Amino acid sequence: MKTLIRGGTVVNATGRTPADVLVDGETIAAVLAPGSTLLGFDVAAHVDRVVDATGKYVVPGGVDAHTHMELPFGGTNASDTFETGTRAAAWGGTTTIVDFAVQRAGERVQDGLAAWHEKAAGNCAVDYSFHQIIGGVDADSLAAMDSLVEEGITSFKLFMAYPGVFYSDDAQILRAMQKAADLGLLTMMHAENGPAIDVLVSQLLAQGKTDPYYHGVARAWQMEEEATHRAIMLAHLTGSPLYVVHVSAKQAVEQLAAARDRGQNVFGETCPQYLYLSLEEHLGAPGFDGAKYVCSTPLRSRAEGHQDHMWQGLRTNDLQMVSTDHCPFCMKGQKELGLGDFSKIPNGIGSVEHRMDLMYQGVVTGEITLERWVEVTSTTPARMFGMYGRKGVIAPGADADVVVYDPAGHTSIGLGKTHHMNMDHSAWEGFEIDGHVDLVLSRGRVLVDDDGYHGTPGHGRFVKRDLTQYLV
Ligand SMILES: [Zn+2]
Repeated sequence: MKTLIRGGTVVNATGRTPADVLVDGETIAAVLAPGSTLLGFDVAAHVDRVVDATGKYVVPGGVDAHTHMELPFGGTNASDTFETGTRAAAWGGTTTIVDFAVQRAGERVQDGLAAWHEKAAGNCAVDYSFHQIIGGVDADSLAAMDSLVEEGITSFKLFMAYPGVFYSDDAQILRAMQKAADLGLLTMMHAENGPAIDVLVSQLLAQGKTDPYYHGVARAWQMEEEATHRAIMLAHLTGSPLYVVHVSAKQAVEQLAAARDRGQNVFGETCPQYLYLSLEEHLGAPGFDGAKYVCSTPLRSRAEGHQDHMWQGLRTNDLQMVSTDHCPFCMKGQKELGLGDFSKIPNGIGSVEHRMDLMYQGVVTGEITLERWVEVTSTTPARMFGMYGRKGVIAPGADADVVVYDPAGHTSIGLGKTHHMNMDHSAWEGFEIDGHVDLVLSRGRVLVDDDGYHGTPGHGRFVKRDLTQYLV
């Protein structure tokens, strides 16, 4: 199957240019000057399908490096399966996800990884890979890290939050980072001071402060700044590169920026919710509505200016990428578990479908450039996590993961069920998007076009990731 995408503007992280894209089978065969002639040969006459992309952007498919399909959390499971979650991703122009395989204290890392392979295999509409959560750092799990690279898993995640669930203390973090430095693995960190947060949670509940709003009060920015700093220092000591997930506090960005200015290999990810939503308007919504917006790290105060600071960090490269931390829970039967006790609300927001559209709004409003949009949503995640060249770029030889995006189009994330995530609500209801995902190819196969959805479970393949040199 040969497809020619003609007349559009190809946008990579490095620049934009009018060009035609020839897809042959699963890969991009050529990026051609407009007009699609090659040595006098009319390429359009020799393909199976021609797509007219006039007036549109042709960009690499999105790479969402932080999702949690079917994650068991807070006594329930994230409501998207790999099937429903990757279908929603495809609708929104995301053609690769990196999810998190889980090992808990007392479990074998190999078993956790095998369990996640089992959940995903045969079910994904788009390509996928895994980071490995090490929730119980001990001699066995440290030894098991040796085989991760062979398995194509080049990054793992630790938690300074959630004592009794995923939490690692400083001694465990130090050991795991030493191991990571030896192996060349990237250490990902959930940086919040969990034990101190738990004290604040119980004090607030004892005062009768049980509404979702207090989730944000308990998880104060000081808890994030302190943990981010501690993680940076431990990483510095061990020589491990560090990637801080879901950064939401401006003070945490300042810690990352200071470390980077000292020459340290540290990186930060933020998420659409920390750019657009706030403690006051959303976590503080009337009644129990704030539960929709309970995630960790929490939404921050707009009065304190965190959201503006996240945009600034994206511009200055103190933050390198935007993932979703997609971890959806329905209100009914799931978020409701926390009625009368905010600490029992399952943590998570579903955004996997909307990340490309939401971040494109930053281009519309002038917060980031068109090229930076591609960079933070596709190119950097591909490069950071060892997939660049295959993913994250429109270039000959790359996987034909291609999105045709119409800047003149419109996407309404209306009230009610206008999205494709397996949720009974969306944190993004009511958002009006300038721009539209017109066409989505995954390894040359059409997943979404004007006629709707054509993907199938099982098209998506596991992506073995390479080690990366972290000198960004
Ligand atoms: Zn997460």
